[in-house]
Amino acid sequence: MKVLVTGGAGFIGSNFVIYMLNKYPDYQIINLDELTYAGNLENLNSIQNFPNYTFVKGDIADARVIDQLFEKGVDIVVNFAAESHVDRSILDPQIFIKTNVMGTQVLLDAAKKYGVTKFVQVSTDEVYGSLGETGLFTEMTPLSPNSPYSASKAGGDLIVRAYHETFGMNVNITRCSNNYGPYQFPEKLIPLMISNALNNKQLPVYGDGLNIRDWLYVEDHCSAIDLVMHKGISGEVYNVGGNNERTNIHIVKTILEALDKPESLITYVEDRLGHDRRYGIDATKITQELGWSPKYNFESGIKATILWYLENKEWWERIQSGAYQEYYTKQYASR
Ligand code: NAD
Repeated sequence: MKVLVTGGAGFIGSNFVIYMLNKYPDYQIINLDELTYAGNLENLNSIQNFPNYTFVKGDIADARVIDQLFEKGVDIVVNFAAESHVDRSILDPQIFIKTNVMGTQVLLDAAKKYGVTKFVQVSTDEVYGSLGETGLFTEMTPLSPNSPYSASKAGGDLIVRAYHETFGMNVNITRCSNNYGPYQFPEKLIPLMISNALNNKQLPVYGDGLNIRDWLYVEDHCSAIDLVMHKGISGEVYNVGGNNERTNIHIVKTILEALDKPESLITYVEDRLGHDRRYGIDATKITQELGWSPKYNFESGIKATILWYLENKEWWERIQSGAYQEYYTKQYASR
């Protein structure tokens, strides 16, 4: 079995590559990644010498590169490659359309041409928009994206759906809630707060801090994708979430307490534009139809994550330099 994982040097993709190589030693895993600011081959140090692992640097939107790669044979595609950060999509939306929409279409075309047996599109609950105080996103919730990021992911999802409806391709779309865990780029909430707290830097919290996200430990997302890849019914969408809704301020205070740092480090900053208030996932379908269940609850997952960031300080310290610093200054300078 030859599995093409795109975006496998990013946060979830690298966790997935490691998960797959350990679970299926007889699979060939090809990791295609453009190595943008978010791609980091260091994430893959533990498996880089595995004989059944190959890395290819390339852009999913580059049809020539993609064709050459598929020509060598691919059975399954799992598409993680994306521009993934909402704040960056507000500063510069165009690259989000290129990678998340056009890149997905280029991959689909190659998958169609070379008879790939399954195409899994890794998407996000953010395509559903924002919830009020009650209710949950189901797979039937209409798409109503609010940020350039979520709009580009919704565009990708729709083109995947169209290739199923029009060409009969065997596709699945997963829509997962917010992930956290090892190797997450320190611009996202949890690693940003852990690293800032460890450096005794201010912890910037948007608005009133009461925005709610439904958190899932990354390994549980990997096991869900594994199930969808092997057992997903063609054309179906599967929501993935751990039923762990928490406000942002709760997360920040949990991290400060675990690290024994004072709450005076918290700084409320001007809210993100178009900031969705609440996400919450109904994962009944994947649970009942594919037998998925998460291993971690929020308390065990956050403990494991904080420990990982404590033990892997060099990993995130190396990232927090250069281009990342430039972005960080631009993002928070005016707030
Ligand atoms: P990430 O930003 O950490 O990683 C993205 C990876 O894609 C990077 O390695 C980057 O180099 C690569 N990439 C970007 N553009 C590329 C291109 N044009 N061609 C090839 N590679 C390219 O993202 P992540 O948090 O690991 O998210 C992975 C996927 O999961 C995304 O599709 C995202 O929308 C989705 N998702 C993320 C979350 C979350 O909480 N992080 C939740 C649900 C879904």
